[in-house]
Amino acid sequence: MDLLFANDERGEYPASYWASVVETLPEFPPLKGEIKADVCVIGAGYTGLSTALHLAEAGYDVVLLEAQRVGFGASGRNGGQVGTGQRLEQDALEAMAGQGPARALWDIAEQSKACVRRLLTKHNIDCDWRDGIIHGELRQRNLYHGHAYAQKLNKEYAYDLIQPLDAEQICAELGTNAYCGGTKDMGAGHLNPFKYVLGLAQAAQKAGVQIFETSKVVDHLDGKIAKTITAKGQVISDFVVWAGNGYISKYQLAVESRVMPINNFIVATEPLGEAAAKALIKNDVAVADSKFVVNYFKRSADHRLIFGGGESYGYKFPKDIAAKARNPMLKIYPQLNNVKIDFAWGGTLAITVNRMPNFQRLGANVYSMSGYSGHGVAMASLAGEIIAETIQGTAERFDVMASMKPPRFPGGALLRWPILVLAMTWFSLRDRL
Ligand SMILES: Cc1cc2nc3c(=O)[nH]c(=O)nc-3n(C[C@H](O)[C@H](O)[C@H](O)COP(=O)(O)OP(=O)(O)OC[C@H]3O[C@@H](n4cnc5c(N)ncnc54)[C@H](O)[C@@H]3O)c2cc1C
Repeated sequence: MDLLFANDERGEYPASYWASVVETLPEFPPLKGEIKADVCVIGAGYTGLSTALHLAEAGYDVVLLEAQRVGFGASGRNGGQVGTGQRLEQDALEAMAGQGPARALWDIAEQSKACVRRLLTKHNIDCDWRDGIIHGELRQRNLYHGHAYAQKLNKEYAYDLIQPLDAEQICAELGTNAYCGGTKDMGAGHLNPFKYVLGLAQAAQKAGVQIFETSKVVDHLDGKIAKTITAKGQVISDFVVWAGNGYISKYQLAVESRVMPINNFIVATEPLGEAAAKALIKNDVAVADSKFVVNYFKRSADHRLIFGGGESYGYKFPKDIAAKARNPMLKIYPQLNNVKIDFAWGGTLAITVNRMPNFQRLGANVYSMSGYSGHGVAMASLAGEIIAETIQGTAERFDVMASMKPPRFPGGALLRWPILVLAMTWFSLRDRL
């Protein structure tokens, strides 16, 4: 099944809340005939656009091929949370990689948040940025760890923007007693993901990137001079960067066994009015919680609740997408029972076994970055900067990230899906216990 077209109309954006409040860009043409470039980038999400933008600014001739529209993938549909750290906590990274590498990974994660802020400022991208993410803890037995982790970041990583919250404080912030406590991180933030990705596309275009839409890459020939082939054209280039994330599938077999697509769902309520929206989230922070299939939510600029969560085991989106995220939403906010859901959409992201992204060299001049495991708004943006400097000859940060290479999924490309379904069913069952 080709995920690029399995759940969406060809050449169209999903009917998300984000797409409803943003004017889309005029269409870029499809690729026709043969063109030459220094670098061919495949996929116009944060990874591909940031790569193309940084390389064009460094004087490279860049072609960007997108199967659908720019920002069609996870980058145009996600929860908009720009989290602190890598997807794994520092404790886990220290145990896996040792103190020195764990600190290097922390530094890179901090650089990823700074990268987003810099891109917004430099390219004048207005995407409703707000500071702050609250992490809500559902289980008393895990609260100690969350608070101890905040203290560890304060003391050992000199990161004092995160503070513990007790039950009373989190209830005052979030208007629910679903959480027994948590943390508040004012160094993290959130944004409108679709405005952000379209802003990156405009910046890339201005910097001279040649963007082609409805130009799915269907084949490729690697070599000193690489050939990247679409239905009606081909790009001859010195370098190729694969940035297709969850949609890559059979075009990149070397990545497929380590990176796996998974779907996730979001709803947007009808406008609640300012007071009612503030009663849910007092200070306009975003929220993520400790559920295995994470609940994540925020307010919109027009006072809706945007709530993400809910898994599905299959490549096709379920018929009733709204129910997928509405049900977990009502567990946190039962008072929204009679509130209308105006928008419900799904998206495809990519996960790895160790939850670290997969930065992979597929040849001397071919790179791939994917598998951000739900933590890609900042990291995919920085991945573009990292790949651009790697192509220019400085691979230090690429090598730090590549050193966390995710293991292959048990069962490889063929059996990873049924095995994951079993594992996910177990973990979500545990959530319910
Ligand atoms: C519902 C949802 C909620 C999420 N919430 C968050 C969040 O709150 N915070 C966070 O940090 N992360 C979140 N994520 C993850 C985050 O969105 C991704 O990690 C990030 O957008 C990845 O960017 P990308 O550019 O690598 O991939 P994508 O944005 O998916 O872009 C890949 C692009 O490649 C194109 N493509 C693929 N194959 C081909 C081909 N053969 N030829 C041409 N083009 C091709 C696709 O059409 C697509 O446009 C979420 C994801 C989803 C789906």
